[in-house]
Amino acid sequence: MNLYKGQNLIEFTERFKSDEDCLEYLAHLKWTEGYKCRKCGHIASQERSNFSRTCNKCSHTESATANTLFHKVKFGIRKAFFICFEMATTTKSLSASYVGERFGVTEKTARFFMHKVREAMKSSENHPIEGEVHIDEFVIGGKEKGKIGRSYNSKKKKVICAVELTDEGKVKRMYSMKINNYSTKELKKLFEKHISKEAAITTDKWKGYRPLMEQYDITQIESDNGMNFKALHTMIHQLKSWIRTTYSWVSEFNINRYLDEFCYRINRSQMKENIFNNLIQRMVVANKIYQVELICS
Ligand SMILES: [Zn+2]
Repeated sequence: MNLYKGQNLIEFTERFKSDEDCLEYLAHLKWTEGYKCRKCGHIASQERSNFSRTCNKCSHTESATANTLFHKVKFGIRKAFFICFEMATTTKSLSASYVGERFGVTEKTARFFMHKVREAMKSSENHPIEGEVHIDEFVIGGKEKGKIGRSYNSKKKKVICAVELTDEGKVKRMYSMKINNYSTKELKKLFEKHISKEAAITTDKWKGYRPLMEQYDITQIESDNGMNFKALHTMIHQLKSWIRTTYSWVSEFNINRYLDEFCYRINRSQMKENIFNNLIQRMVVANKIYQVELICS
């Protein structure tokens, strides 16, 4: 089977004409390295007409969607594929109400499924950024004063952001996450998840970064209102306006999901040919997420 490539909606529609086309694709990705029964571990099975597999030993049947993020999608696998395609290839902001309208599901259903997709977009944390890295913090929400940098307004959500730069000073990769405050302990979370010890890091003169110099190669320079961190601040502006135009209100609980979505697309903007397949692959291997984990607290 050929893996899906490209961003062309007509070609996509031709390829995935029915639920069966989608199930076949999922089953292919799921068992591409061979089948193994989840109940008894046996490796021989019968393939059913709906692309599920029945174990030859214990007769346990596993559907193509079981144990994936497509499990029990109420509105059908084809719509789910289309929403994934849209979320993977868009360069615009997609709100749940827009997706609901376009695909004929309720806003609530769209929101819930889109959170599952964002879960799949989460970084594997297997490829920490290296080379030249710029790091800064910013805030989301509340009234904007056009000011960049640390804000202590408690209503705003604090976020830390790192970019890896190319030799030309362009953004190669980006990671971002919510922090509770600007302490070293909180800043360190991003370093531990996403930054290589080999990276040459530049930050502004915030003292919170200083204790991290023992483990990381950090140089501190004046921010000069962001002028010394131009590529990073361009990304921060894009991220903030993307969130502002799509989501009038982003809850504390969900903020990391939106940051993951934004960074996922940025980090694959050079690999757009394979982005849909990459996303479906992630949906397949991600553990089942129960509704309760997605509900906003
Ligand atoms: Zn079995």
